[in-house]
Amino acid sequence: MITFDNVSKKYGNDHVAVKALNVEIKKGEFFVIVGPSGCGKTTLLKMINRLIPLTEGTIWINGKRISDYNIHELRWSIGYVLQQIALFPHMTIEENIAVVPELKKWSKMKIQKRVDELLKMVGLEPETYRQRKPKELSGGEQQRVGVIRALAADPEIILMDEPFSALDPISRTKLQDDLLEMQRTIQKTIVFVSHDMQEALKLGDRLCVMKDGQIVQVGTPQEIVQNPVNDFVQQFIGIKGNLFDIHAVMQPIEAAIELGDTITVNDSFTTILETLAQHDFLGVEDDGKRIGMVTRASMLHYFAENAKERGHAHD
Ligand code: ADP
Repeated sequence: MITFDNVSKKYGNDHVAVKALNVEIKKGEFFVIVGPSGCGKTTLLKMINRLIPLTEGTIWINGKRISDYNIHELRWSIGYVLQQIALFPHMTIEENIAVVPELKKWSKMKIQKRVDELLKMVGLEPETYRQRKPKELSGGEQQRVGVIRALAADPEIILMDEPFSALDPISRTKLQDDLLEMQRTIQKTIVFVSHDMQEALKLGDRLCVMKDGQIVQVGTPQEIVQNPVNDFVQQFIGIKGNLFDIHAVMQPIEAAIELGDTITVNDSFTTILETLAQHDFLGVEDDGKRIGMVTRASMLHYFAENAKERGHAHD
């Protein structure tokens, strides 16, 4: 569906933002590009609809080079949702959603029907919202409109650049859930950029983990969690995904303590908790070697710290 063939992007003469990238995005899949800030995610995304010209290589959509598409044809067949709510402030919600259908010269009736259908799809009552201006909507509601506006003319592909990261955690979770639900019905090819591994693992059919303009790993959430290719991916899952890493709570073994049982670094989180429910102290083994211990107290301390961090997390 979308193929990157040896694609590079240089800004200026020497700043390489994306390096010789090869990847294929399949039709109907939810594909998440994830990585730390500055690794080239947005550049990659914007090259798809030619908002950023590529320096080398070729991007193909449905077997045709993007450079061979008429630019309007290309942009109209690709929905685009940005992080910063980009609704036109002087236009009503209905007018905002209708921008691309109008450009495509749909009839008034068809547009109105489509607007109502889309508003209902994201739980905004058309009677109430159709005529409102963007500033009369909450941040979460505006972002919902941003999403359905991208869907309005029924594009095959939707590009989403951190669409929920400016929202509070509760709205963000709700919009993620709604998007997943929506995708079950619409089955679009979605390319979604995120710096948040937890979000990526939740949403993606496949993830493309990036670092320094290059792809580090492509795989399903399960493949990435179970077989991270290197320490970078492992760490990114651990920190950003809030997945549990035993090393975060492990301490050196104290001679005076009698260990009740032993777990291994590969045990599931549930196994570790269940075992710790029965013993105050556990030994930790890696590849048959005892490398440390975990105490019930250190585990509780870890949860308390994590809960504190999540309470303040607004990134
Ligand atoms: P991400 O989306 O992962 O945060 P970007 O694609 O925005 O990363 O940026 C990748 C790299 O390219 C960064 O080092 C960034 O500073 C640089 N960059 C992005 N846009 C421009 C630009 N218009 N001019 C020069 N450098 C840029």
